[in-house]
Amino acid sequence: TDKQVVKWTYSTCGYCSTGCAIEIGSNADGKPVASRGVGGADVNRGKLCVKGIFEHEVFEAQGRGEIPLLRGAAQQSFDAVGWDQAFDKMAAEIARIQAQYGRDAFAIVSTGQILTEEFYTLGKLARGVIGTNNYDGNTTLCMASAVSGYKRSFGSDGPPGCYEDFEHTDCLMAWGSNLPEQHPIIYWRMKEAQEKRGFPLIVVDPRVTMLAQNADIHLPITPGTDLVLQNALIHVILAEGLEDKAYIEANTNGFEAMAVEVAKYDPTNAAKICGIDEDTIRTVARLYAKAERAMSIWTMGINQSTHGSDGVVGINNLNLVTGNIGKPGGTSLSITGQCNAMGTREWSSCSGLPGYRALEKAEDREEIGKFWGVDPEFFPKQRGLTETDIFPAIETGQIKGLWLVATNPMTSMPNTARIRKAFEKLEFLVVQDSFADVETMEYAHLFLPAAIWAEKEGTFTNTERRVNITRPIKQAFGQSQSDLWIFNQLAKRFDQGRRIEFPEQPEQVFEEMKFLSKGRLMDVSGMNYALIEANRGIQWPYTEQHVEHGERPKAGGVRLYTEPRTFRHPDGKAKLIALPFIDNNEVPDEQFPFWLNTGRLVEQFHTRTRTGKIGNNNKFSPTAFMEINPDAAIELGIKHQSYVRVVSRRGDAVVMAMLTQRVPKNMVFVPFHFFDCVNRLTLGLLDPYSRQPAFKQAAVRIEAT
Ligand code: SF4
Repeated sequence: TDKQVVKWTYSTCGYCSTGCAIEIGSNADGKPVASRGVGGADVNRGKLCVKGIFEHEVFEAQGRGEIPLLRGAAQQSFDAVGWDQAFDKMAAEIARIQAQYGRDAFAIVSTGQILTEEFYTLGKLARGVIGTNNYDGNTTLCMASAVSGYKRSFGSDGPPGCYEDFEHTDCLMAWGSNLPEQHPIIYWRMKEAQEKRGFPLIVVDPRVTMLAQNADIHLPITPGTDLVLQNALIHVILAEGLEDKAYIEANTNGFEAMAVEVAKYDPTNAAKICGIDEDTIRTVARLYAKAERAMSIWTMGINQSTHGSDGVVGINNLNLVTGNIGKPGGTSLSITGQCNAMGTREWSSCSGLPGYRALEKAEDREEIGKFWGVDPEFFPKQRGLTETDIFPAIETGQIKGLWLVATNPMTSMPNTARIRKAFEKLEFLVVQDSFADVETMEYAHLFLPAAIWAEKEGTFTNTERRVNITRPIKQAFGQSQSDLWIFNQLAKRFDQGRRIEFPEQPEQVFEEMKFLSKGRLMDVSGMNYALIEANRGIQWPYTEQHVEHGERPKAGGVRLYTEPRTFRHPDGKAKLIALPFIDNNEVPDEQFPFWLNTGRLVEQFHTRTRTGKIGNNNKFSPTAFMEINPDAAIELGIKHQSYVRVVSRRGDAVVMAMLTQRVPKNMVFVPFHFFDCVNRLTLGLLDPYSRQPAFKQAAVRIEAT
């Protein structure tokens, strides 16, 4: 080609959870110079979005970490040090903090960005060696409500559906999900299916997103009130006898209590709270219930809410009463955020023990303790603090040391002013990242440079439970090393680490995971790296029994809870759950008259650690901006592309005003990617079940500058 590619190497995209199979082309010098989609891949069928197309540029992007860096205090300059000195210092500081303040005074926050084998190994190190219970992932900002909602409804995490469901459905409802910008290739799959089948698309979103522009029915809901709409839809379905009685009888319990609760949400009253008129509520309820197969997808509009977990259960309730779980085209499919958010949910141990095991269960502690060679009594008996509770615990002095792995809380956490205060109190902060210029470095004592996604080998799991592989395309940048190597080296610094085996090769780690997955919902025991690559990814479950019976990995779509339907609650049934709505939002008032909404742009990824350095991505949105309705702008005297100050009770941010009808008159929208911007304003009240913050429910005022 004109890029002089001499070799293409197979990988899986390292950005979003769509899980596109990608090949990176290298020239004769081994330099990555091109990216292309893999034609035979089930997921993306040869396509990539604007982030994937330029992904080869990320390897040598500005700001890559080259060497470990150490300093005595946050105000001092860093010294370059060798890996041995870095690990010695880190092990000594962890030991000091734990001896002085207790085991849980050292906390770990990881990510949805590293490889599954690395999550598993970090879990072993955190739970079995370091022994802190305050270990979580940044997935608490992203998918925790989906996890919690799936567990409450079905007895386990694990999205039951797959992308192929678009090709079977008769009605699609998207809740707070803007596929064209968040997950462009899933959007393309959905549109292709819709063009063939002509199913109606209903979009629930307060903003006229790109997906809402495609909708047959757009429901511009009042922020934080999805639960009211869900209860009202079920109210209409039950009142008109449209429920699937046989399905409910055979597969669920809790119907009576749920029916009593939804009886309170007649569409007339619900309309006053959720802002959707009563006739539309009735129309949507009938459309969804009368469709032979209906499915719901959702993303952060549901999860990042004070009712996030309930919102997920509400979607599951809707699908259970209409008989839409466990059949092609009938499902509840959470569209995940990060490339390996699913891997961390399955294997990281941050919310429990690996393989969907729970710290709360004695048999799970026994099983993992025996396999790892750790006394089960060493494990805590219940989950420790989530990321969103770790920062307040730093503020109060309960936590003194923190290790961040591929996450950048200075930009990603709500209410940045509080996060800054917490960082200032830490005695020891380790930042492990592929980039040395992440904003959180301002407070780091030690920096560990990590290899980037395709400088190493291992697996990711995508939104539809598909395990896919990434192969090393080139050597790691500078002296950076794979996260797996870093975890293994640190394990060796602890006495206890010598008793526990830490395999060095990724596929050896995968073999351990296979063993521990046998017989569990997420059974991967039939997979190996060669088979995964040959199939361009394999959905779990794929078991050793499949292999023994000569069943090849299924092309197309694998679903959970199909006939004979067994959910993961002890009685094998799914739970219908009564969901009373308690209004606990920060709502606009005279002083702060606008809703603040946040979200993602198609060309950027998360805190722009990577895409902010890639010209072809960054040139589309080089600076932070705010969407504001032209009518509101005229009243405030704000001109298109002028700079304005957005103010909340937490802080302020200066952004460029973009006048657009995409937002209603009482709302502004600011993308979340930019440092020192929207998260200076967000409140971040927490969902009581998932501890996920409500990024999208805050009140602000706008001041011309
Ligand atoms: Fe990568 Fe997601 Fe784009 Fe696919 S849709 S190329 S996984 S960023």
